[in-house]
Amino acid sequence: MMRMGPMGRGFMSEEEKANRPKVTGALLKRVFSYLKPYWKQFLLILCAIAVSSLLGLYPSVLTGRIVDALAERSGVGVLVQLILLSLGVTLLSSLIGVGQNYLNSWIAQHITYDMRNKMFAHLQRMSQRFFTSNNQGDIITRMTSDISGVQSVITNTFTSILSNSITLIAALAVMYRRNWMLATLGVLVIPLFVIPSRRAGRTRWNLTRESQACNDEINGILNETLSVSGQSLVKLFGKEEYEYGRYKDANGRMIRLNIRESMAGRWFFMIIQTFSSIGPMLLYLVGGILMMNYNQDITVGDITVMVALLGRMYGPVNQLLNIQVEWIRSMALFTRIFEYYDMPVEIQNAPDAVTPASCDGSVRFSHVDFSYDPERQILYDVTFDLKAGRSVAIVGPSGSGKSTIINLIPRLYDCQGGAVYFGGTDVKKLDLAFLRSHVGIVSQETYLFNGTIRDNLLYAKPDATEAELIAACKKANIYEFVEKQELGLDAMVGNRGLKLSGGEKQRLSIARVLLKNPALLIFDEATSALDSISEAKIQEAIEPIIQERTSILIAHRLSTILAADEILVVKDGRIVERGQHQELVKRGGVYTELYETQFKKALEAAE
Ligand code: ATP
Repeated sequence: MMRMGPMGRGFMSEEEKANRPKVTGALLKRVFSYLKPYWKQFLLILCAIAVSSLLGLYPSVLTGRIVDALAERSGVGVLVQLILLSLGVTLLSSLIGVGQNYLNSWIAQHITYDMRNKMFAHLQRMSQRFFTSNNQGDIITRMTSDISGVQSVITNTFTSILSNSITLIAALAVMYRRNWMLATLGVLVIPLFVIPSRRAGRTRWNLTRESQACNDEINGILNETLSVSGQSLVKLFGKEEYEYGRYKDANGRMIRLNIRESMAGRWFFMIIQTFSSIGPMLLYLVGGILMMNYNQDITVGDITVMVALLGRMYGPVNQLLNIQVEWIRSMALFTRIFEYYDMPVEIQNAPDAVTPASCDGSVRFSHVDFSYDPERQILYDVTFDLKAGRSVAIVGPSGSGKSTIINLIPRLYDCQGGAVYFGGTDVKKLDLAFLRSHVGIVSQETYLFNGTIRDNLLYAKPDATEAELIAACKKANIYEFVEKQELGLDAMVGNRGLKLSGGEKQRLSIARVLLKNPALLIFDEATSALDSISEAKIQEAIEPIIQERTSILIAHRLSTILAADEILVVKDGRIVERGQHQELVKRGGVYTELYETQFKKALEAAE
């Protein structure tokens, strides 16, 4: 992420320079396409900026007239008029400024609202592969800070370019109209102020970055050495002296940097103060000489106006010099965001997707090959047939590809070879929403939202009646637990369901799937050992469900396996054996081994 010190706005880090985006016409067009819906408001802002920038300069001009009125003793009436006018103009320009601020933030917020919604909708359509291969923090950064950064482009960069340019041009025009010689002098002294202040800014910025790096290093040392395991390592290897030296060294560097940084700040202000007073003094001097010695047509008021306008020019000049960097930074943000927008949606509805009238839940895998990454194939020639109303248990060693097989049914991933049929139709040709609404998965890692039990159940069927909720809970063997809760269905499940035990969570997710009432039920049995009572409860819940609908069970326990009509044994991505328990046990193959090492033990433990 970009990290900037307060003085760093006008400078780019090496990293930013290296990642400089290519600002092409296409990119600009795309950026402006987000402004387009708000062009009327934008036009209004432009007018407001123009008017308020011009009005903002007017009091400086009036100051000159006030001075002249004083010098010429024009009378109190004139003086009061000028003063009131000056105050009125300042007030008006501030009021316009307020309106401009409101419009500005209104547009910026609306644009980020559009962009965030678009991003969220796009991310929702991204495939499982995207979420497994991208860092969650990175995704959230793009959603939040990158898009907020864009907001600052709209509020700061665009308006800053405009208002500063107008202020500068108008100030110069007024100055040249008054006296071209003094005006030219004013322009010439500008670098006198700008160059030193930019140099000081850069030095300070570098120091801030250095001290940030040093601070990170110190935190690293503290984290490593002051943790329990870190300390024991230090003690066991007798590294106390070494670590102390390392810390002392970094700490010493830190204080030197801090002192330099605070002094750079002092120097910075000293330089700014000195140089910003040189300009006005020069104007007074040259203006005075022209007025007194050469009898030029210059009034005291003219000189005052020049000095006041010069003062008004420093800020805009500095800000305009920073604009280029801000502009590049903003374009980098837009590029990062567009990168996400442009990621293709890997799994989507086929143009000729069909939505059958009904679905029997049958599944057929025909010579399916699959890999997550091109380098490594996970499934080889997987073929099996699950008839409607029947059930199949998939067993196999850890990592053999069981979960991968079931991921292909609701199209969390698409297979590369062969085809998967659901209800007789190739899943790639089925309407995605139809397909997913007919497949229910009770996964190993039950995910519950932070909310009440009721909220989590209604997620599957928002219009479920109280009676339906209770019936589902009873079927899933969780109703007894719900009844024990003081708030019943309205009891909170905690963040990710942390207030519930593993078994309770899984039974709740069974209830949730039952409410969804899918044609095909997939049950991914927990590998981690639950206590036998909890397991028995899940078993009790799941068995009758399996009997009444088409189901696939990724099974780790014999009782679950026995409940299925057929067993598929998967090893290294291939179905190596299939059949009934009795014959498979006798065969002396992979299943026999699994039975001896896993199922039998679990059975004995349960007894
Ligand atoms: P377990 O019983 O331990 O859950 P499993 O039989 O269900 O295992 P899978 O989860 O299907 O096994 O994994 C099969 C292989 O695919 C594993 O070697 C795993 O490392 C790999 N794999 C799983 N998910 C991904 C992914 N998203 N990207 C890349 N490889 C993956």
